[in-house]
Amino acid sequence: MASYSRILMAVDLSEDSDKVAERALAIAKNNEAELHVIHVIEPLSFAYGGDIPMDFSGIQDEIHQQAAQQLEKFAARHGISEACRHVVLGQPEVEIHALAEESGADLIVVGSHGRYGLALLMGSTANGVLHGATCDVLAVRVG
Ligand code: AMP
Repeated sequence: MASYSRILMAVDLSEDSDKVAERALAIAKNNEAELHVIHVIEPLSFAYGGDIPMDFSGIQDEIHQQAAQQLEKFAARHGISEACRHVVLGQPEVEIHALAEESGADLIVVGSHGRYGLALLMGSTANGVLHGATCDVLAVRVG
């Protein structure tokens, strides 16, 4: 049976992330695979850049530092080595695909909320990751 050698799990650092990690760790262990973790920070300018004429760089740096600290704690708790921790600025789907390709991941693990109504129409990160991925994608039910 084919096995995975490099797994990339994507976490939003919410409380759901432990469930995603549990599943990714179990698969990594069974496959003796290397496990990487990515957290993507969306630039403030994406949301407000056109509307509010101000320099976001200071706040953006602060957000980056806090996210890096949180990811460090999260990764240490789950035994993921420093070299396998990634904090990236950009759009989650785009950056998750880019790192998966760059690192040669053969499986991406993401969380997926059951969505209904309008939220379903608006789509999810898990959906975005699935479309356009060049490797397998596992959506772990969370929430
Ligand atoms: P969502 O569709 O935004 O509810 O997110 C579902 C899953 O997508 C999360 O459990 C993560 O696996 C992944 N995800 C969402 N946002 C991010 C992010 N900023 N960085 C990395 N992964 C994310």
